[in-house]
Amino acid sequence: MKNARPITAFILVIAFFAVFLGTAHAQNPTDLDQLVIKFWPEYDDPRLLVIIDGKLTNPGSELRIPIPQDAQLNAVASADNTGRLLTNDWREEKGANGERILVMTPQFPAFRVEYYAPLVINGDQRIIDFELPAGFLNAKNASIEALLPPSSKEVELDPPADEQGPTQDEAHLFQRALGEVEDQAIRQKITYVNPSGALTVPETTASTGTMLQATPAPVEEPPAAKSSGSSLNPWILLLGAAALALIVGGAVGLWLTRDKDEEDIPARPPSPKRKSKKKATSVRTQPAQSNLDRYCRNCGKEFGPDDRYCRYCGAKRQRIQ
Ligand SMILES: [Zn+2]
Repeated sequence: MKNARPITAFILVIAFFAVFLGTAHAQNPTDLDQLVIKFWPEYDDPRLLVIIDGKLTNPGSELRIPIPQDAQLNAVASADNTGRLLTNDWREEKGANGERILVMTPQFPAFRVEYYAPLVINGDQRIIDFELPAGFLNAKNASIEALLPPSSKEVELDPPADEQGPTQDEAHLFQRALGEVEDQAIRQKITYVNPSGALTVPETTASTGTMLQATPAPVEEPPAAKSSGSSLNPWILLLGAAALALIVGGAVGLWLTRDKDEEDIPARPPSPKRKSKKKATSVRTQPAQSNLDRYCRNCGKEFGPDDRYCRYCGAKRQRIQ
């Protein structure tokens, strides 16, 4: 027992260094060539949609992005060479003060993180107070964009935007170039009033389903173990199995139908596993949007079924002529 104390102290010292080194390593900011942070409040949901697009300087780097405590992740993806977004693995860690940190190693250099966060509402006023703390991302070229609903008024950005106005359409697009960002926090405050609470894109059922819920969707294994040990009549077992198959089949069918609706939404990209199915379904154009462009005329990225603006460049979606 006499030696227990020095050994404990030794272990503590080792543990301290392990934690210290681990933290120090984790705090290294990731280098990006490009970073665009987009704020789309009251877009297709009364909340604030935050879209973080970036491009790694060194492919294969790990990324750490702090997200608000009450954020609901909507997409964690990386874009292949054709620009198609594919669901990317990610995990969450707790920061030193319990903050949520999204950790991902993008499969391709271009990545996207989307989340919804509550919008601070004070009467008719909407308040966005964003901060990406220093120590997570360095970018050679960073910018901020805000797309506000057409009914928004008295818009103020702090720091101010470089470009603004009711751009291609009635919605309000603001842009601010930050240039190079290194070892510094990115802050943006936006206030505006929206008395009617009208969204940029009216709410639909399709827009509320989240990719992260749809992606794993493992069909639960039939509880075979439960019935195997019982002394039930084999016919009842057979009937039960048939009923179960119907239920599971129905659930899978439902899931597949829902999946189809979501597959054309760039923000909720199909996982690589589901890609083969995409070929069959993408030929069909959804009737509601058959007269609208499928691809952005400005940047060439694919629109989601309900998108009125490009989620990449903010350009308005046009009608096919
Ligand atoms: Zn575009």
